Amino acid sequence: MKVGIIGGGAAGIMSALFACKGKNEVTIIEHNDKLLKKILSTGNGKCNFTNIKMDSSHFHNNDRAIKFIERFNQYDSIKFFNSIGVVEYVKDGYVYPNSEQAASIRNALLMELGRYDVKILLNTYVKDINKNSDVFQLNICNTENKNIKKLYFDKIIIATGLMAAPKLGSDGSFLPLLKRLNIKYNTCLPALCGIVLDNKNFFKTASGVRAKGKISVIVDGKTEAGDFGELQFSETGISGIPTFQISRYVSLYLNKNKKVTIRLDIFSHIGDIEKILNNRTKIPSFRVMEDMGNGLINAKLWLGILKMAYIKADLDIKKCDKKSFLRLVEICKNMDFTALKSGDFDKSQVCTGGISLDLMDDNLMYKGIKNLYFAGEILDVDGICGGYNLQWAWTSGYIAGQVL
Ligand SMILES: Cc1cc2nc3c(=O)[nH]c(=O)nc-3n(C[C@H](O)[C@H](O)[C@H](O)COP(=O)(O)OP(=O)(O)OC[C@H]3O[C@@H](n4cnc5c(N)ncnc54)[C@H](O)[C@@H]3O)c2cc1C
Repeated sequence: MKVGIIGGGAAGIMSALFACKGKNEVTIIEHNDKLLKKILSTGNGKCNFTNIKMDSSHFHNNDRAIKFIERFNQYDSIKFFNSIGVVEYVKDGYVYPNSEQAASIRNALLMELGRYDVKILLNTYVKDINKNSDVFQLNICNTENKNIKKLYFDKIIIATGLMAAPKLGSDGSFLPLLKRLNIKYNTCLPALCGIVLDNKNFFKTASGVRAKGKISVIVDGKTEAGDFGELQFSETGISGIPTFQISRYVSLYLNKNKKVTIRLDIFSHIGDIEKILNNRTKIPSFRVMEDMGNGLINAKLWLGILKMAYIKADLDIKKCDKKSFLRLVEICKNMDFTALKSGDFDKSQVCTGGISLDLMDDNLMYKGIKNLYFAGEILDVDGICGGYNLQWAWTSGYIAGQVL
């Protein structure tokens, strides 16, 4: 069977490796100048390639995704990478190569690919795709030779990703061809990214600070999502892992033109902040309101909070009236900001949206077109941070790559 794979990222290469196991002729079509470019940036250069803890709670809105994952799960991924020379290192369930180098994952996949007679077309663009009777015709061209060349395949696997980190290749350029094939997909929005918030004044003061805290997404007075962990403050808003985890909800609600409030509570893990602050007014060495934050939270963050409460940093503690003090307590408990936008695709690790799994059969074949398969992020599955998105790429690549 002639198998054409469009997209040489994690899911595409995984599907190629399994498609190669039979007597198939496999061709990978990639518009970048190299395969697996994105992998090098994953996990801060260390590649968190799966996670020991894995259930449906790690994937948004998708109980069916976990059913697929059960067929090639985290232990299968570890076993697979062991078999191609990668030793795992596990930290709090997060799985990395022991080398702590994402390049090891890329190299291992490429060395394994090198064992097979796979045709790799780099710098190559798919201009059109058609199905005539049982055969797919792809019109392709490359950066050097703009002339259209026709390729024919019995089976096609589309693994082009969506639009997260477009500079690494997944730039949405395949989406118009999906439209041509009459394949519907859900709106693609940035996820696992920072959030731009209002109150520039506060963020100017707090920029650069990292602090533990709770972050919640509030829409129409209801908490829609939340997480706890290290919050990272920047000049424009907030990022860090807990922010990444909830960012997809911000994207989705802003896309529906809803007002989205981001509520931070950076004292929730310390105790009753009213009591704590009351006690701190009695510390004999503390003179002014700025002193009250010393040793409690980061000094820049405290200055930002005082500003939000309209309290001067040099105000004598004894002169802080009850109303101002209660306002300060309230802000410490609930620092509310309006979300202006979730991060750009450039800075997002994955996307929400893509083709619904409902349109796929159990082998990830599109129900409407025989022998057209999909793998990876182009499908509407997004996981939380922690190795879940790459696990989805390995699982879906493994399933779509099987030649039955
Ligand atoms: C900075 C960063 C850090 C990340 N860290 C982690 C992590 O530690 N753990 C984790 O689980 N996930 C992580 N992710 C997410 C993970 O990398 C993705 O979920 C995963 O790579 C998706 O695999 P994919 O093969 O579907 O898409 P991609 O890896 O995006 O691959 C798609 C490929 O298709 C090619 N392509 C696109 N359009 C076309 C076209 N029209 N024609 C030809 N080729 C095309 C692209 O060039 C690319 O090579 C991270 C992502 C980023 C951006």
